[in-house]
Amino acid sequence: MNVDDVKRTMAIKGIGVSPGIVIGKAYLFDRFDAQVPLYHLNNKTLVQREVTRFRAAVKETEIQLQELKDKLHDLGDKEPLYIIDVHILILKDRRFTDATVEHIREKAVNAEWALRITIDSYREIFDKMEDDYLRGRISDIQFVGQGILRNLAGKKRETKTDIGEGIILVAKELSPADTAQTKIDKFLGFATDFGGKTSHTAIVAQSLGIPAVVGLEKITREVTTNDDIIVDGSSGMVIINPDPEILRRYEVKRRHYQELKAISLSSARMPAITKDDFRVDIGGNIEFVEEIPSALEHGAENIGLYRTEFIYINRDKLPTEEEHFSSYRSIVGVPGLAWTTIRTFDLGGEKFFSDPKLGREMNPQMGLRAIRFCLKEIELFKVQLRAIARAAAYGKTRLLFPMISSVEEIRQAKKIFQEVREDLISEGSSLGSDIEIGVMIEVPAAAIIADKLAKEVDFFSIGTNDLIQYALAIDRVNERVTYLYEPLHPAVLRLVSQVVKVGHDAGIRVAMCGEMAGEPAYTLILLGLELDELSMTPSAIPRVKKIIRNSTLEESRELLKKVMTFSLSADIRKYVGKYMRGRFPEEFLING
Ligand code: PEP
Ligand code: MG
Repeated sequence: MNVDDVKRTMAIKGIGVSPGIVIGKAYLFDRFDAQVPLYHLNNKTLVQREVTRFRAAVKETEIQLQELKDKLHDLGDKEPLYIIDVHILILKDRRFTDATVEHIREKAVNAEWALRITIDSYREIFDKMEDDYLRGRISDIQFVGQGILRNLAGKKRETKTDIGEGIILVAKELSPADTAQTKIDKFLGFATDFGGKTSHTAIVAQSLGIPAVVGLEKITREVTTNDDIIVDGSSGMVIINPDPEILRRYEVKRRHYQELKAISLSSARMPAITKDDFRVDIGGNIEFVEEIPSALEHGAENIGLYRTEFIYINRDKLPTEEEHFSSYRSIVGVPGLAWTTIRTFDLGGEKFFSDPKLGREMNPQMGLRAIRFCLKEIELFKVQLRAIARAAAYGKTRLLFPMISSVEEIRQAKKIFQEVREDLISEGSSLGSDIEIGVMIEVPAAAIIADKLAKEVDFFSIGTNDLIQYALAIDRVNERVTYLYEPLHPAVLRLVSQVVKVGHDAGIRVAMCGEMAGEPAYTLILLGLELDELSMTPSAIPRVKKIIRNSTLEESRELLKKVMTFSLSADIRKYVGKYMRGRFPEEFLING
């Protein structure tokens, strides 16, 4: 595919009303939405004819609603029935129909236009209501109005009965009637422009357990049918045309989310302490600030990784310092989170989402990415660093630099941060005084010189996604080589083991924030490696914590010692898999 054909990634925030993550193809539900015409009627006969036409359309709408109600009743789908009753009551409400007839007569206009005037006057009244639920009920009137408009135009409702697999419904708003007629249970998820927590979409989605995000305002304008789309009903984010990296990450999130269904969240906030008293701090990885509530709910004790590059999605212009600040401010000092680790942007290469042209490098993964990009674009880097230093005044903050491969780079980054701090002090800004500085250990060179890097920083965070990619020379988004992507490769285990040891020798904490940290099958291996912190996608936390609480450091060390004697990754995988299935049969029923 030509790079210019790559569709731009876009993230839109709405209201998550039914939790869960789905990835699929968009289907733009084109409910008949008449462009309401206006024409004047210049004699009494025409006016009378228009009134008759309007009343006939009302009658027809009522018959259709009644038919729909009977159909739903036969299907045993009781939930939406009362809503259809409400729609029928509106139709029968003389104030609604009489007002429209009056507009036709008084203003000598066509029925469509008169109806629009009636609906608009209702909207004005509803808009003033304080109660969210009542305000949202304008959608019932709009729905009824659309039914009448459709009949006035002589068009039948669009029905979609042959939905394929993996389709996500995108619509302005869905009524239960719409959803009933579109074989709702075939859809993976919903994303709508309108609606709130009590909208029909929300009610129906929850009762069917289908992830949904509503109130997206412009989703129908941005999406075309067949676009790739991700709906995260937990955080309220919808991502259109995700790039391969985002897609991969959300596939992991989705899998953890599905596995989580079997586990209760009641003990999620309990600490991860082994039976022999070894504590691992468990953090959450987030991409959007909206994910904080979900991180807390799933038991995150801190934010171990905030991937700030996501601030750049759907932008033409770079974010200002204030925009950065407001994001960071909202995730720093959150009650229940011990600290927030803000990683400076990992942009460049393939990660400059907004402009694919910037990704035109032969080997973008090895290109001008992350800290390399920032050290070239110092002014842009400083904007972010200023915002982080300011936000740190509000709670414990850790600053994390990605893709460090030499002591020179970390020294340079620290120097720039120091300059930024001095500038802020001289400007009289308040800023955090105890910001810890860490490096991602994700380039093999950094792992090899970890002893030198340890002297420069307060903590390490091992990024296994990249560390594995670079150590094993496997492009992490190239599906042709995924079979070689092996976290349990002896080389990976050795690298991690060495980094932990060197970090501890230097007296600094060592975290892991790559996807490997959240795989329950690896939890004992990671315990045996004695990582101080594991940070992962929030939905992975409850299972990992549960395993830690039910094991001992001693057995984990034994397991690690044993597998370190193997030469083949396949043998390690087999051995660890068997061990974990034997020890935690309940946890590994699903994926073996
Ligand atoms: C990693 O490389 O493991 C990591 C956590 O960073 P990212 O996935 O954002 O590259
Ligand atoms: Mg990385």
